[in-house]
Amino acid sequence: MDFIRYAERSAALLNAGLADVDGLRAHLADREWLVEQCTDRDCMLLRKFQRELRPVFEASAADRTAEVVEALNELMVRHPITPRIAGHDGHPLHMHVATKSQSVAELLVGESLLGLANLVCDLGPSRLGVCAASPCTNVYVDTSPNQSRRYCSDRCSSRANVAAYRARQKATAAAS
Ligand SMILES: [Zn+2]
Ligand SMILES: [Zn+2]
Repeated sequence: MDFIRYAERSAALLNAGLADVDGLRAHLADREWLVEQCTDRDCMLLRKFQRELRPVFEASAADRTAEVVEALNELMVRHPITPRIAGHDGHPLHMHVATKSQSVAELLVGESLLGLANLVCDLGPSRLGVCAASPCTNVYVDTSPNQSRRYCSDRCSSRANVAAYRARQKATAAAS
């Protein structure tokens, strides 16, 4: 898997509802082999990781780029990553995360940090964002060429467009 997909999974992990293990299973629906291994402990550890990770996205969204780098470096000290070169299913060689404990939480945390660290090095530290369609607080990875992404999803984007349109209509009506 390439690092952009890891970074995007990291955003998806932060957006996932992990109140219970079913939430974690839903988040991993496209990775069947992991779904069976999810435990309550994974869920608890990942909720904690969500709290650690959100400030990274918030700092990037606010262009506090030094803070992004510092926070990611700190998280990599707290959660050491063991990268592993893998080749499978005809894909070119790429990085995986090796886990000692074999736990889903350790794997997802490692992938998340590896993806974000690579993203920051390759595309810069200002590529992470928080959805501008309040009250949505979802995060996203901006891989658009001109770095113009503002919303977590098409749904939030069209909701914001409708709101802006209504506001304009109201302003026009008030002016006439
Ligand atoms: Zn792979
Ligand atoms: Zn949103």
